[in-house]
This record gives sequence, C-alpha cells and structure tokens, in this order.
Amino acid sequence: MNLKMHEFWFIIGSQDLYGAETLKQVAAHGKIMADALDTDPLIPGKIVLKPTAISPAAIRGLFEEAAAAPLCAGIITWMHTFSPSKMWIQGLAMNKKPVLHLHTQFNRDIPWSTIDMDFMNLNQSAHGDREHGHIYARMGLPRKVVAGFWENPEVRRRIGVWMRAAAARLEGIIHPAVRFGDNMREVAVTEGDKVEAQVQFGWQVNTWGIGGLAGLYRSISDAEAASLVQEYEEKYDVSAEAREGGVSRNAVLEQAKIELALKKLLRHENACAFTTTFQDLHGLPQLPALAVQRLMEQGYGFGAEGDWKQAMLVHAAKVMAEGLSGGVSFIEDYTYHFEPGKEAALGAHMIEVCPSIAEKKPLLEVHPLSIGGKADPARLVFNAAPGPAVLATLIDLGGRFRMILNDVEALKIEQAMPALPVARVLWKPFPCLESAAESWILAGGAHHSVYAAALTAEYFIDWAEMMRIECVHIHKETKPERLRDELRWAEAYWSRYGRV
Ligand code: MN
Repeated sequence: MNLKMHEFWFIIGSQDLYGAETLKQVAAHGKIMADALDTDPLIPGKIVLKPTAISPAAIRGLFEEAAAAPLCAGIITWMHTFSPSKMWIQGLAMNKKPVLHLHTQFNRDIPWSTIDMDFMNLNQSAHGDREHGHIYARMGLPRKVVAGFWENPEVRRRIGVWMRAAAARLEGIIHPAVRFGDNMREVAVTEGDKVEAQVQFGWQVNTWGIGGLAGLYRSISDAEAASLVQEYEEKYDVSAEAREGGVSRNAVLEQAKIELALKKLLRHENACAFTTTFQDLHGLPQLPALAVQRLMEQGYGFGAEGDWKQAMLVHAAKVMAEGLSGGVSFIEDYTYHFEPGKEAALGAHMIEVCPSIAEKKPLLEVHPLSIGGKADPARLVFNAAPGPAVLATLIDLGGRFRMILNDVEALKIEQAMPALPVARVLWKPFPCLESAAESWILAGGAHHSVYAAALTAEYFIDWAEMMRIECVHIHKETKPERLRDELRWAEAYWSRYGRV
C-alpha cells in the first residue's frame, strides 16, 4: 500500500474579472503551494494542481474529469481570490469525491508598509472562502474545512488525516469483502443490510462457501507450510510445544496452510477484508486463528462471527494508519476491572487480535478453544502496547448506519495471566469506564470494534463525514444523559438526510 498513488486534486478558484496578470500570479502561487505540500511527509497523498477555476464551464469540466478519474481520491478547494459560488453549483452538484475546503492564504503576514489595493485584490481568501463555504452549506454538502496558514504543520497534519480517510474510502470501493459463511446464529449486531452498505459506502460484501477454502487448504503442500512456519520462527517467539518435534507442531503447520489458502483466495478476489464464523468451519481442522492474526498484520480487514461491517472498518483503519506508528486490530470488549480508581476494560477475542498492536514480540502457542468443537488452534499471545488509542464500531440501525467512537488509554498490563493464552488490551475509556460504557450502550454500539492505536477520532470523523453517516464520539467531556438527548435529536436529522 502506497498512499502516494492516490491523487488529490488541488482546485484553486478565481474569476476572469481580475485580468491576466493577477491570474498568472494565482497560478504561480498555486504551483509553489502544491509542490511544497506534495513533498511534505505530513501529506500522504499525491497533490495534483489543476488549472485555476474561473468559469462555470471550466469548473463543471473539472468535476466531470474528477468523476471519471479512478485515481482521484479527493478534491481540495481554495479560493485565492473571490470566485462567485454560483459558478460552482453545477460542478459541486455532480461531485462524488470527498472534498476538503482549505481556508488559507498565500502570504502569512500582512505587508504593512507596502500593502495596497492590488495586494488586497490578489489575497482575498478571507472573503473568497466565505463565499465558497456558503455554497457547500447551502447545498448541504459533506466536507472538511481546514483553516490556517498552509505552511503550518498542524494545517498539513489535518489535511493528511483527511487524505488518509479519503484513501480508505476509495480502497473500500475497489476491494471487496469475502465472507466465509454467514454471521453467528442469533446475533443481532453483526447482521446488517449489505445492499445499503454498497449504496452508502460502495462496499461489495458477498459470501463464499467454506468448502472452497477447505479445498484450497488441502491443496497447500507440507513444504509450502514448512517454509511459512520458518517465517513465524523468525518473527515470533515460539513455545516449546510448537517448535519442531514439539507435540503441537502440527497445529502450527495447519494454521500456516490456512493462512496460505486464505491469502490465495483473497488475492484471487482482489479482496481487502474477510470474515469467518466458528459455526461454519467444515473441512478446516481449526478455527482460522494465527492465520487471521497474520493476515490482519499484512493489512487485511477482519471481522469474527461474520461481522463484515467491522471487517471493512478494520481495513479502512489499516489504510488510514499506513506508515504511522501504533497498530490497528479487530477487538472485542471482554471483561471489566472495577477496582476503585483502576477501572478498566479488558479487550481480546477468542484469538483474532492483530500483532500490530503488540507491546513486544508475540509468543506463538497452541491451546484448546472452548468453543466450536475444532482442534486446538495455534495463536499469537501478547499484551498490547500502552498509550492512547480509539475504538470505532459501525452498526446498522435499520435504514442507516451509525459509527461510534470512544477515546481510550491503553494501560500497561502489570499482572501475568498465565491461564489466558490470548492477545489482550487493557484500556481505560474516557471520560471514565462507567460513563463510556453507558454512552456506548445508549448509542447501540457493538461488542466488536476496531482498536486503533495508530489513529485518533479525527480520522474516523473525517471518514464518516465523507460517507454521510452519523458519528457519535465519546470523549473526555461526554456526559451520558446529554448524549441520550443528542442521539434523539440526531435521529431526526439522520433519518431524513443520512443517505448518499
Ligand atoms: Mn466476537
């Protein structure tokens, strides 16, 4: 994954009243800005400067061109001068690409001793961008507004966050999700309207029989599996039982075959995410466990028990986090610690947690699984690294989707848990365990979510905005009783406008 392959078109607005000289300067300034932004590591995507937009036909043409450009992941607009917004209506009305309205100006300082009306006419973003912002508001269009001087690292960081979200959106359209079997029997929150998800997010979510995967599994040779296990031994610590000659060695080889079979199928389908369910594993010796952890580590999205919404969201988070430190994993709220002053939640799953969030080298072990009735699965066991993170989940409310976020702080796990051989995260949610849990539950949040140490809520908020879905953010200031009211007010808005 290289985020530089995603293009972000930089469209600078003006009009023809200013004359050729001013327009030449606008274009020259745009070139300086585009070059500087494009080479800044804070800007992950490729900046493509377009000709200055000065007429309704030219603006419409730019948006037509963008719509037909598969590499164009988003559009950045900025009004160096005044660009009457009625000129933009046709273009914006047909636009389907995410938009960032950059409100900046070329010069940082007012040139006090030389400023004249020519300068004022050339550098009038302060009112040009107000005219521009007005038409987005009037047309009810989703966008991110970033205001500030364009050389300021914070401005660039925020543009970068939005770019990553836009890249995730595009990747989710290009690459389908593969579901092996349906979701876990009787579970509500992992259900969802896959047709609506395709309308809203562009996601292609379809089902593959487990028999196809089992057939691929049988076709993987012992030698192929052995060579992958060698890679495991280089990357992870391996328990004595799982080593060559150990009693559990065969379970590791089986997981290696599952990994290779899964990867073969996912590659064949050009897929970015997948789901499994322990109730539908006929033909496989074990629950895909280590194999799932490994594929998540390689950038695939995953959802357990058929949870395709979280699988695609894990993938989106993986794209957003590309090249950033900290990891991203599928996770599940498991159990609480209610000791006064040390309240925390322990997140884990049966097994399927991504080693990208590990504090140190994971340990490869084989243990029984008390659910599903299959052979003991090989897995990576580790504690997640401490530090700030965000939880994100996506739910289907029937007719629309809602995203729920919770800022958390992962804590250092001080106690050994020798009888719990699974990967785990211990986190303190904000504002506190009780209020965070009450808020999450009031909002209908799932037990499955994405745990992202590499990201902050801002990434998901940008993503939700471009997807036009509700985003509920539980943070340091959240009060559950206030949130309950906000959810009710938001219901009125989103039930009416929450559709592409
Ligand atoms: Mn689960």
